[in-house]
Amino acid sequence: MSRPHPTDPAPDPRFPFPHTSAPTRCRRDPALFDLASGDLSGDTKNAAQARLEQARRACSACPIVTACLRWALVNKTLTTENVFAGTTPAQRRAQRRGLADRLGPDWTDVLAARDQAHRARAEAARSPQPRGPSRATPTTPPTSRSSWTSSDCPPSTRSRKPETPPP
Ligand code: SF4
Repeated sequence: MSRPHPTDPAPDPRFPFPHTSAPTRCRRDPALFDLASGDLSGDTKNAAQARLEQARRACSACPIVTACLRWALVNKTLTTENVFAGTTPAQRRAQRRGLADRLGPDWTDVLAARDQAHRARAEAARSPQPRGPSRATPTTPPTSRSSWTSSDCPPSTRSRKPETPPP
């Protein structure tokens, strides 16, 4: 069987195949997802179409369908045939063209950069915040007259009139 497998060599390392402990249908019944080029034409059309619909239903219930589609779109040399995430090769080609139109020819790099930024934000959100009073270094006002402007004042003091000493 020619169906590419996530452990085949040369997948893009920035987009690992999603992990799931669930036994996905394509692992249990790989023949269902076989769709060689030409299957949807000629004498085999009806049988292939029925199999495609079954595979689509299986994928729609799969817990990793979204990540599977992403993996299949990025790793186009591994997914030139067969059904992945309910899509045919022609549908994936169309989706890749759409991504290139929206994000540019380097759309995989754009997606990888977004993923990295997302991971960095998630990591920052998980980092413990400092407790108690801030121990930040106190700021000192500028001493040079030329660099001292009203915008250096804290906002709450900018519009306050100078205090007049009591008589
Ligand atoms: S979505 Fe992907 S991993 Fe899930 S059954 Fe379909 S082809 Fe397999």
